[in-house]
Amino acid sequence: MSGMQAKEQAGDMAEKRIEEKIAQFPICEYAFIRPEEIPFSEKVRYICRTECPRYGTSWACPPAVGTLEECRERCLAFEKGFIFTTVSEGADLENMDAMLAMRGGHEKITRRIVEIFRENYEEVQAFSTESCAICETCSYPDAPCRHPDYMLPSVEGQGILVTELAERNGMTFLNGSNVVTWFSLILYAGEKAAL
Ligand code: SF4
Repeated sequence: MSGMQAKEQAGDMAEKRIEEKIAQFPICEYAFIRPEEIPFSEKVRYICRTECPRYGTSWACPPAVGTLEECRERCLAFEKGFIFTTVSEGADLENMDAMLAMRGGHEKITRRIVEIFRENYEEVQAFSTESCAICETCSYPDAPCRHPDYMLPSVEGQGILVTELAERNGMTFLNGSNVVTWFSLILYAGEKAAL
């Protein structure tokens, strides 16, 4: 077996360990991906700039996260990726505040899964749906982020075409008329030796 094959096999085993552990969470769908297959687009940035009230108000969103090219380069520096969805049922899709309040469960699951990846990999970066809402008022731009290790930057804010990435991996966002589908992306590199 070549060194490369041995490394890939070890990586598969780490992913198997991760899959066993995440079975405890109410995940709707998930897939392991390669960063090279993530679709980035200036169109997403345009929507952030012209339609999102969080643009320019948070460390988790553009322009604070850097240019599209900087985001792309940062993502491509990781070896692998993991995407997953959870759903919230009974959502009033017209009421943005109520909808965002339902996101807490998804963020909690994302942080728990990030911990599992950190047990197995040296470098882990997670992105979650929508903007960061940890602090009542974001410190941007006057002071540094108050919780840089805890905050989850917006996956859309990276310029990623989320639905396209999900669809390419056989995942669906259409889970019912009053159902919200939440999405997270975890990038990782540098497998740790198994304990
Ligand atoms: S953790 Fe607080 S300061 Fe940091 S991005 Fe989120 S809201 Fe802003």
